[in-house]
Amino acid sequence: MARTVLLFLCLAPFFCCSPEETRAEPETGKPPRDSLPQEVVASQASLSFIAAGDNLLHLLVLDSLVEQGSYVVDPLYDEVRALVEKADIAFVNQETLLAGERFGISGYPQFNSPQEAGRALVRAGFDVINQATNHVMDKGYAAVYATMDFWDSVEGIEYLGIFRSAEERETKEVIITKNGISIGFLAYTEGTNGIPVPSGRPYLVALADMGLMERDIARLREKCDFLVVSMHWGDEYQHDYNARQAKLGAFLAAQNVDLVLGHHPHVLQTFEYLPRPDGGKTLCFYSLGNFISAQQRPPTALGALAFVRLAKFGGSLYIEQAGLIPTVTHYERDLRGYKVYPYYAYSTALAGKHGLQYLSTGISKAYFDGILTRLFRDGLIMYNPFAPETFQGAGGTELPK
Ligand SMILES: [Zn+2]
Repeated sequence: MARTVLLFLCLAPFFCCSPEETRAEPETGKPPRDSLPQEVVASQASLSFIAAGDNLLHLLVLDSLVEQGSYVVDPLYDEVRALVEKADIAFVNQETLLAGERFGISGYPQFNSPQEAGRALVRAGFDVINQATNHVMDKGYAAVYATMDFWDSVEGIEYLGIFRSAEERETKEVIITKNGISIGFLAYTEGTNGIPVPSGRPYLVALADMGLMERDIARLREKCDFLVVSMHWGDEYQHDYNARQAKLGAFLAAQNVDLVLGHHPHVLQTFEYLPRPDGGKTLCFYSLGNFISAQQRPPTALGALAFVRLAKFGGSLYIEQAGLIPTVTHYERDLRGYKVYPYYAYSTALAGKHGLQYLSTGISKAYFDGILTRLFRDGLIMYNPFAPETFQGAGGTELPK
């Protein structure tokens, strides 16, 4: 496959940036997408991709979902379902094991979540599930196999970062092709909370070992148009990425990876375009924050969906639009009614009755706006990118200055 050249036509509009600042001329001299004749634009292959952060199922969340003895998980995702379903490919970091009831359903600190929660993710529209997290060894190696058994029983799903055998670790390739664009996936975790991966089964979990990563990336790089690496890394509750993330991010860019999806800190961190040896750029999201959790530190209620729209024409692949759609994990005063909202649909009135109001002080839209404004100069998507009126990347809602 010809070397992929990533070009950046248009970033999501946001506050502070003039159109001149957000629109770069294509590096090969091709005209920007919106200056092409409409029939040419319509004929190009394009693909939308969404990625969610930590699906972190505390017992408070699970207990709130029990109805007549069963877990009813779908309502968690009702408000983001339209976004996730609409994406051609959707990824989520499944922070906890889905090993089944025989391992005992449990929350912090050693989690095992109901398999119904996995089925709810699939019904919400997710296609690619990361299981390489610091909690993957929480219930011993048999629970990792049970989690793989579960995902293997679900049609149309790819899971990342855990393996049954040395042979599978060496040969498994996750590549999804849609709309003529192929996306490869790899995933790694920086650790397993001090619970060792069994010495006789080093293949079980993909740890962030640079030698192994380099080898895996070399194997997949030429087989896909766009290579995504999921990284479970960073310091919890820190908005700044740490030195190890910086080092690994630069390392991944040096391997010509296209997209890095970071998670684990439970709060948002920034994203950057990192230079690559092949002349392209690596889009690195350092942390997507929580997708859902019952955590009670105010910044952990704010997460984001990474959004990337790719276009392929003339044999080259373009990042047509990229940014973050902020989300809020909402719950009520009685610590029930957990739901993920896209920030553009999260009202001042809802913020006013967030359960955190009663646990902390000063929670409001203005509080969340403050975090977003501090972390992101641009690249926030404050509207539904699939809505017809925003399809060309126009519009967007400014945050208060
Ligand atoms: Zn984690």
